[in-house]
Amino acid sequence: MWQPEFTITTDERYVPLLRAAYDYGWTNSNDPKTRVGAVIVAPDLTTILAYGANQFPPDVHPTKEQLGDRAWKYAHIVDAEKTAINNAHGAKKQTEGAIMVMPWTPCESCAEAIIAAGIVKLVGHETFIISTHPKWQEERSRALTLLKGAGIERLMYRGKIGNVKAYEDYREWEP
Ligand SMILES: [Zn+2]
Repeated sequence: MWQPEFTITTDERYVPLLRAAYDYGWTNSNDPKTRVGAVIVAPDLTTILAYGANQFPPDVHPTKEQLGDRAWKYAHIVDAEKTAINNAHGAKKQTEGAIMVMPWTPCESCAEAIIAAGIVKLVGHETFIISTHPKWQEERSRALTLLKGAGIERLMYRGKIGNVKAYEDYREWEP
């Protein structure tokens, strides 16, 4: 079984933030397969600095054929973590020392963006993380090693979030 390098937390202060991240992804993602959201919050865990979802840039309107082409899709869609970082910087918000709450586990490219943004802690949701498809696991493990090497704390919340919907691999579920 895959053992991603996260430390389990049951700190309930993360529940509303994870719910906000799921909700933002549900509402704003335009990826037909999996919707992901991310929230960047100040260390007080109250001041939200930015939201992001995995989405195509505003000027990209994919056709059905393009959406069905994995290579095309992944070359054009911007992941939730990067969208959140871009939105924070676009709004002149400081991400240095901030916390990113993102239910899933980042890819290597987003891990690099998280490190460059000066984010110090990543908080995910255990249920989503452990459901990661085996084909992604090796790459996600490398991303977590990058984050660990940069001294970024990695927590995953164990427990139910509730009152929100998620969409993963064409499947709707309640986190
Ligand atoms: Zn990514």
